[in-house]
Amino acid sequence: MAIRDNIQQILNELPQPIQLVVVGKSRRPDEVLEAVKAGAKIVGENFVQHAEWIYPFIKNKAKWHFIGRLQRNKVKKVVALFDMIESVGSTKIAEEIDKRSFQLGKVMPVLVEINSGREKTKTGVFPEDAALMIQQIATLQNVKVMGLMTIGTRFGDPESSRVYFTETKELFDQLKELSIPNVDMKYLSMGMSNSYQIAIEEGANIIRIGTRIFDNVT
Ligand SMILES: *Cc1c(COP(=O)(O)O)cnc(C)c1O
Repeated sequence: MAIRDNIQQILNELPQPIQLVVVGKSRRPDEVLEAVKAGAKIVGENFVQHAEWIYPFIKNKAKWHFIGRLQRNKVKKVVALFDMIESVGSTKIAEEIDKRSFQLGKVMPVLVEINSGREKTKTGVFPEDAALMIQQIATLQNVKVMGLMTIGTRFGDPESSRVYFTETKELFDQLKELSIPNVDMKYLSMGMSNSYQIAIEEGANIIRIGTRIFDNVT
């Protein structure tokens, strides 16, 4: 199977409102471009440097989502390059995004990353702290919370991620009911190559896939 076939297979099996983010980390520009030409509309990047490398090949043929660990000193570049930041895990980083977005005269759509597995090594806010954090972020003029993202477990039995997806979906629904001003609980980004079917069953409307598109190529 070529990258093109993998993309088409995934797009064909996706229920309509679900958006595919093609995760380009460690891929060459021509590989990511092939995915975009095959119909992928969003590219996800973990690293600013890698995004800067492949961006000129793709530009606005796709939307750009930042999905990586966000460091304060990278925010300026991320805000300039990306259309959405999926991995906002603290009020502090949101404040930096707000400041840099204001300077560029834009409002940055963000997803709040939920550390659903409560793993110390993972970024993101614990589920029980999310509502307060989102209320704080909602006061920022140049940041707009558009939903939640969670990673779950990347390896091992995909079924072991289900409980995290379920919990994040419940949180998503609760936050939506709060109707926080300046917050639009629209997107729920969860599920990767090994777990996206389960994530969709549990309510994801954005999935992020790398390996299943790029490694399964002959
Ligand atoms: C790498 C990565 C993915 C994609 O993982 P695959 O297993 O390659 O599909 C999705 N989301 C995040 C945050 C990642 O870092």
